Parts: sequence; C-alpha cells; structure tokens
Amino acid sequence: MFLNALRSFNSNFGVVALLAYVALFCLAFVLMFLFPLGSLVLVFLGIFGLAVVVPAAALAQALERALSRKRLALGQCPLCGAEVLVRGVTSARPGTTCVSCGSEWMSDGSTLVQ
Ligand SMILES: [Zn+2]
Repeated sequence: MFLNALRSFNSNFGVVALLAYVALFCLAFVLMFLFPLGSLVLVFLGIFGLAVVVPAAALAQALERALSRKRLALGQCPLCGAEVLVRGVTSARPGTTCVSCGSEWMSDGSTLVQ
C-alpha cells in the first residue's frame, strides 16, 4: 500500500540521506586523485542538493499526514486499516486511538504512538 511505503520512506529518510552523503563523500575522495573536477562537482551537488532534498522530505511528510487524515475521516486506522477507532472524548489523549493496533493519531494526521 502506498501509505505504508510512504511511512516507511519517511521514517528511514534520515538514515538513507546520511548513508548517501557518506557514500558520495567516499566517491569524492577517490575522485580527488583520479579526476579532481568530478570531486569539485560532487561537493557543489552535495551543498545545493540540500535545497532539493529538504523540501522533498517535508513534502513527503505532508503527503503522509494528508493520506492519514483521509483514512481517519473514513473511520479507518491509517496503520492497520481496522475500523475500530476511539475518538479523543473517551480516550485519555486528545487524538484518535486504534483499538486493534494501539496506534494514536492527531487530527492533523501525525501519529503519537505507533
Ligand atoms: Zn490500527
């Protein structure tokens, strides 16, 4: 399902971005001796790539919250798809709680507990 894949992408995004930067650093180090211009290009791609990566990550998180809100509006848990949700009136916290999996959701689609 697209929402679960997007949730997995968002939760692992920091580690993947860090590993990509470390790998590109190693490539730039090797290129420094073989093709110095390639190393310089990688440095500028790393710096200016942040201008693309950071908004893309924020967009992916916003999309995940929007899809979660849509499923919550349908009365379904965004995590497991069960239709046994308890609204904040009877729950101890202000969000929505899934009785099936125990996840808690805020009204903006973000999760408190997974
Ligand atoms: Zn659930």
